[in-house]
Amino acid sequence: MIDQKRELLHPRDQIVMIMQRIYGYGMTTTSGGNLSIRDENGDIWISPAGFDKGSLSPQDVVCVHPDGKVSGIHKPSSELPFHRAIYDARSDAHAILHAHPPALVSFSVVRTVPDTRILPTARMVCGEVGYAPYDLPGSSALGDKIAKVFGEGYNTVLLENHGIACTGDSLFEAFQRFETLDFCARLILESGRIGTPHNLAEEQLSFIKGTSHLLPEFDPPAASSRERELRSSMSGLISRAYDQMLFTSTEGTFSARLGRDAFLITPYGVDRKYLAPSDIVLIHRGMRERTRVPSRSVLLHEKIYARHPEVNAVIIAHPPNVMAFGVAHVKFDSRTIPESYVMLRDVPLLKFGMQYTEREKMAELIGPSTPIVIIENDCVMVVGKTLLEAYDRLEVAEFSAKAIIAARSVGPVSPISDEQVVELKAAFGIS
Ligand SMILES: [Zn+2]
Repeated sequence: MIDQKRELLHPRDQIVMIMQRIYGYGMTTTSGGNLSIRDENGDIWISPAGFDKGSLSPQDVVCVHPDGKVSGIHKPSSELPFHRAIYDARSDAHAILHAHPPALVSFSVVRTVPDTRILPTARMVCGEVGYAPYDLPGSSALGDKIAKVFGEGYNTVLLENHGIACTGDSLFEAFQRFETLDFCARLILESGRIGTPHNLAEEQLSFIKGTSHLLPEFDPPAASSRERELRSSMSGLISRAYDQMLFTSTEGTFSARLGRDAFLITPYGVDRKYLAPSDIVLIHRGMRERTRVPSRSVLLHEKIYARHPEVNAVIIAHPPNVMAFGVAHVKFDSRTIPESYVMLRDVPLLKFGMQYTEREKMAELIGPSTPIVIIENDCVMVVGKTLLEAYDRLEVAEFSAKAIIAARSVGPVSPISDEQVVELKAAFGIS
């Protein structure tokens, strides 16, 4: 995913932006982790040594020139030797991200690489994950060991008893690899608490390669006020979903109905963190706004709107706790507290692949009386009368899943009884 707008930012600004992102989401500590960008002229811009990651600003970033001279008010990160060794081994790498996020450290201390085959896009984003043996932090021996693995072509490498390092064409690409692998690690850990994580088979991993989202194009008329309003509320909720970790930077789709045969949908390949109202794509009668590429699931959204006139919003998301049920292939029971059952109803666990091969059937399965479904090893799909209702439902599902998983360490979960469900349905007018 190339993000040209943000790649024009100065390396100092990119480093601060990504550092804030990883620190803000609990993926690095104040002192741990470092980022670098290599310029065309060989300069390496790198985060400073021993600096508070929570308050990094552009002037704190250090520039190390090819002759070894350093410009800046701080010393470069103590891990500069391994950054340099990776750049020497990989002329195509322009950025490196290194951190110690808890979930990936769990794998690093067990000395096991997280399996990216649990999600269809993870393998595509991260590639095969390499493994580098332990050595002394800051030493050139560590640099040699890590660079050797990157030299074999890996872009994502787990560091034994240490953490993770990722490279990319840009720092944004390295971040997407890092975030995706961390998400896989969290999903494997969470799903292991309720069952056994399942991997996808090779043929299933290739399902996502289709291009059916490249619909014919049309020239849209001037946007109505309603369309402008919807674009802005969609982009606001999308950044909220990202900040609450219900979406990742590369995945998660929102759509909202604009009229009988028109709806707005998130674009393909734009970082969810920075999505602006103008990035959202208008779909009208099976056509897409000229030059804009909608999310890959656009045809499924279209079928749902056509089938259910009362549905005005559809969300596809990856909330980690609900997804743990989808990865462990364990049925999620929403009869935890009244709010959950009333909002979610019975939540089916659907087979992987249906969203690509049986769209008609999927559109039939989800609707006002079954407003949320989990698709094995893929996603959670939610519909609502309004965007906010669908979003609320997604949050309720994630909170409930989190409570169920955590409850296991206290004792067996006792759901609301069948009689209590009948009583709830009558009281809340649920059919
Ligand atoms: Zn480190």
